[in-house]
Amino acid sequence: MNTLAFDVGGTKVLGGVVSDRGEILEQVKFAVPVESGPAGVAETLAEEFFKLKKKWPEIRSTVGLSSAGPLDPERGQWLSPTNLLTNGQHWPPFAVTDHLQSRTGFEWRLENDAAAAVLAEGWVGQAQGLRNFIVVTLGTGVGVGVVCNGQLVRSGRGLHPEAAHMIINNQETKIRCGCGNLGCAEAYLSGANFARTVSARFGVALTGAALTGQDLLQRARSGDRVVLKEFAEYSRNMATFLVGLVVLFSPEAIVFAGGFSEAAPYFLPDAERALTAQLATRRAGVDLLPRLLVSEHTNDLCLLGAARVVSIRP
Ligand SMILES: [Zn+2]
Repeated sequence: MNTLAFDVGGTKVLGGVVSDRGEILEQVKFAVPVESGPAGVAETLAEEFFKLKKKWPEIRSTVGLSSAGPLDPERGQWLSPTNLLTNGQHWPPFAVTDHLQSRTGFEWRLENDAAAAVLAEGWVGQAQGLRNFIVVTLGTGVGVGVVCNGQLVRSGRGLHPEAAHMIINNQETKIRCGCGNLGCAEAYLSGANFARTVSARFGVALTGAALTGQDLLQRARSGDRVVLKEFAEYSRNMATFLVGLVVLFSPEAIVFAGGFSEAAPYFLPDAERALTAQLATRRAGVDLLPRLLVSEHTNDLCLLGAARVVSIRP
């Protein structure tokens, strides 16, 4: 049976129909209409749901919805997502699955996008067959999904562990995370935040406009020394973040996904060297150094995961 699913990211929504073998049979993409607030975003999801359902009448009666967090997967609520703002304001809590269920007559299941990503990587990606692995999604924000001993790891009270908001620099005075704090991993490592920081340092002087993550990638590819130096700092921050994840969860592999994982050639070798040095004393007996991999499903992993959430627990 096929599953209809959506993935709400920081800037765009992917929707689609996914088979039980993990093939995406149809995919649609549109900007998150953040200007219309959470109810407006839900309404757009309902409209797209009806369009897809018309073309694919034979689908499960539950729809998968992965979304940027924080959110409450059990209650199906958005809890003021870090990177979804309307007119610069964070949203109030919003019962998105109740809203969609009454609008469409279908049951909807909400999952944190990084949790969806880690389930998908274990299903159709490089973590197939592993029982301990982490997916780090790099995009507008940073998401971390963890599977330990074959189980998706939840935080207390049924919530998703918001690992990207662990503070990796307590000396920070300028670079503020979307959550309001200084020094969070996400403030340095999301593609959007990294681009903003480099822009503030050099970009406007270099180009007259703010740089995007894609601009940085292009400059790195052409050997731009200023940008490569920034990537070296990014790599050190990444290693600091990964050491924390490794000592907490002992993964066999860490898989990078999301749009900015395309930048892996410019940060992963240095991050891996730093990680190897920092885990030197943790390799006897159980070797804690994980394999670092890049997902083959860079952009559609969360969509696959949203469908997986439904197909493993229909
Ligand atoms: Zn934060």
